[in-house]
Amino acid sequence: MTIYLEPIHSLHKKRLNKEVSTKEIAQAVIKRIDETDDTLGVYLQRNKTEEILALADAADAKIAKGEKVTELEGMPIGMKDIFSTKGITTTCGSQYLKDYVPPYESTVSQRLLNQGYNLLGKINMDEFAMGSSNENSGFKPVKNPWNLDCVPGGSSGGSAAAVAAGLSLASIGTDTGGSIRQPASFNNIVGLKPSYGRVSRWGMIAFASSLDQAGPMTRDVEDAALMLEAIWGYDPHDATSLKSTLPNLREELNKDVKGMKIGVIKDLDLSSCDPEVISCFEANLEVFKKGGAEIVEVELPNIKHAVATYYVIAPCECSSNLGRYDGVRYGHRAEDAKNLTDLYELSRDQSLGPEVKLRILLGTFALSAGYYDAYYLKAQKIQDLIRAQFQSAFKNVDAIASPVTPVPPFKFGEKLNDPIQMYLSDAFTIPANLAGIPGISVPGGFTKSGLPMGLQLLTGMLREDKLVRVAHWFEKNNEISAPKLAI
Ligand code: GLN
Repeated sequence: MTIYLEPIHSLHKKRLNKEVSTKEIAQAVIKRIDETDDTLGVYLQRNKTEEILALADAADAKIAKGEKVTELEGMPIGMKDIFSTKGITTTCGSQYLKDYVPPYESTVSQRLLNQGYNLLGKINMDEFAMGSSNENSGFKPVKNPWNLDCVPGGSSGGSAAAVAAGLSLASIGTDTGGSIRQPASFNNIVGLKPSYGRVSRWGMIAFASSLDQAGPMTRDVEDAALMLEAIWGYDPHDATSLKSTLPNLREELNKDVKGMKIGVIKDLDLSSCDPEVISCFEANLEVFKKGGAEIVEVELPNIKHAVATYYVIAPCECSSNLGRYDGVRYGHRAEDAKNLTDLYELSRDQSLGPEVKLRILLGTFALSAGYYDAYYLKAQKIQDLIRAQFQSAFKNVDAIASPVTPVPPFKFGEKLNDPIQMYLSDAFTIPANLAGIPGISVPGGFTKSGLPMGLQLLTGMLREDKLVRVAHWFEKNNEISAPKLAI
């Protein structure tokens, strides 16, 4: 297999057996970036090649001496540009932060540094993680490596395209309403959103704080387990970080699903789905049946309100979180302001994109006097109902399966002027964020024209162990004949 397309766990075994060196791995990925990134548009910022190769050499030197190295040591990995990296520009996809250099490191990237990971650079994304296509990046759109006319999904579309096309061995994305799982599905990779509170949000630029959660985007489920084990766990810097015990995810791999119950949601409206998404999903369910799992219907009557609920809660939290970008303390500052109000208005107007402005306006409106009860409080009540309905569903089933998105990757510009259509592409992913439960996207299959489609699996709160078990089994047993990448 081409080095730059191999999973980390298998490259690690190979380097311990001296079949490949860390330096060769890093060189292969850097060459791949050099050759393809002008077209794909993944990286916003790259670390220096000498520094990357020096870290790879250091890992090889330890291996040569028989010293222990972690699986991530020296391994070339790019990070979504939402994670603050000390001394390295962090833009969150926004012109507002184009020159922002954080004075501190996010917990997620610090934990990867503790494992010795080798940062390749910062990866493109929708501005402030708002979007489903990467067309909202304040810099440039990312292309889908399976079809360059199509979007890679969003907001972690850059990370997904990078992992799929070999421009990074893995990445960490963030998921507020589907931003890990939807682009994973659009790129035939694995994307895991952990339970809310499992991974620290410290140093991760905030969009909607009660929903935001970071998680791995990888080539396979084993790498997702490996990456998640590196980043999760309690962090006193994040008040919503959980002190719960962490299961050993690797022990869950290679177990089967015989006798398990896989739920399908009776109330999920599949009528807007592309027929190829439905046939892929049906074929995926057959795989579980063949493996001895039982398919059971579950009821989640309020799931039909999930998108509307999310598009009240997320903009409300965004309008509050983004108040800090006022041109005063850091980031873009308008030069032509005549007074303080002017400074706020011009700094924001000049540097924030249209989708971000739209969300701030929606959220500010929904939180204003008289509307707070009608919108925000009501949305929170529906969120409680959805959470409770998932809880009762998981009394009867081990996992719930659905397509990740109603449609396969779409063309650039196709949904840009119709925000509702764009928002509906998250209809199947948003419920897990509202309920706080973990979810994963695993490759499900390809359309006749060669576009990827994922299968989404959800489990109960804090049941990443079951999630990884079911997903790994499915990945091993679902036969996919993938077409060639377009690049
Ligand atoms: N696409 C959704 C949105 O635009 C989700 C984004 C995300 O999960 N960060 O809000």
